[in-house]
Amino acid sequence: MAKLRTKTVHTGVYKDKSYNSVTTPIYPTSTFYFDALGKNKGYDYTRSGNPTRTALEENIAELEGGVGCSATATGMAAITAVLFFLKAGDHVVTGDDIYGGTYRLFTQVFTPLGIRFSFVNMRDLDAVAKAVNKDTKMIWIETPSNPLLNIVDLEGTIAIAKKKKLLSVVDNTFLSPYFQQPFEFGADIVVHSTTKYINGHSDVVGGAIIYGNKDLEQRGRFLVNALGVSESPFDAWLVLRGVKTLVQRMEAHQANALAIAEFLEGHKNVKKVYYPGLKSHPQQKLIKKQMKGFGGMLAFELDTKKVSCDQLFTKLKYFSLAESLGGVESLIEHPWLMSHASMGEAALKASGITKETIRVSCGIEDAQDLIDDLANALKV
Ligand SMILES: *Cc1c(COP(=O)(O)O)cnc(C)c1O
Repeated sequence: MAKLRTKTVHTGVYKDKSYNSVTTPIYPTSTFYFDALGKNKGYDYTRSGNPTRTALEENIAELEGGVGCSATATGMAAITAVLFFLKAGDHVVTGDDIYGGTYRLFTQVFTPLGIRFSFVNMRDLDAVAKAVNKDTKMIWIETPSNPLLNIVDLEGTIAIAKKKKLLSVVDNTFLSPYFQQPFEFGADIVVHSTTKYINGHSDVVGGAIIYGNKDLEQRGRFLVNALGVSESPFDAWLVLRGVKTLVQRMEAHQANALAIAEFLEGHKNVKKVYYPGLKSHPQQKLIKKQMKGFGGMLAFELDTKKVSCDQLFTKLKYFSLAESLGGVESLIEHPWLMSHASMGEAALKASGITKETIRVSCGIEDAQDLIDDLANALKV
């Protein structure tokens, strides 16, 4: 079987039987005509299906090792569609440090619709098992977590789901299929914000749902079409272009993240660094077991008695102060006031995020340039 770096380039791509273009054409059409009643070429309306989107879906499904994929307008669209597998009265167990937008969707949109959520410390398998009740239908996993890079035991958590016949869903945005494949550990569904590493160039928003079996795929495809959250052909084309360099980008992101994490860990104005590639990360065994790499995201606690967040952000030249992550350019941000603000103060504190927590998305620039930039901004 072809390796992942071959699949990123070739899978799904060849959709032009008329002229044999080596890239996938964009099909900017809302509708497709029938040759006769009941006779078309497999597509009838772009919300339901479009050849450019199909190319991307085939590609991502294969990278994750799923049976199929729905490409959606955003990551939140993917998560929304998956939550519609549930109905009022159902209960979900998830982490207390999940992506801020997911937390907001769960608490402010699906809770009023009658779905209930328990937010627990998912590093503690007993806490996960205890949170399961007779109405629980789904376990929602994010690992590594955002922004503190806590690792959730995929095999152990999914085993709890299987024992109780719950759907297990893994948001695999942070590592991408190159560094982690949740289906290897028995996950039912994997979701992505393709806005991040899969596209990788900060020029599009998108999402993906990857299905572990055909029944889930059938229901998922129905939901994506019924809800109207599928990805536009233009955006799908951009993501398909981006994904071809996923492997090369992930390796570059990781090399830079490791170098930056080591530099920050040795800096006197930094109190703590969170990065799975550092020996100081407390979950070494799990990291080795379930991750093929450490990724490009890190966070640290700035000693704000010595260097203010303002100083750090304004003096940096190559790290833009911005939300989002996973693009070729380095970004830095303040989770308390930016990406995770919608969680509210109590939930922020419970998850361990402080006013000194800084999150970094390491880009693919020269490592020494990035370190010099940080060294300058951290100078007192
Ligand atoms: C960004 C992100 C999302 C949401 O994706 P959008 O494309 O912004 O809608 C979901 N989960 C994680 C882990 C993310 O980083």
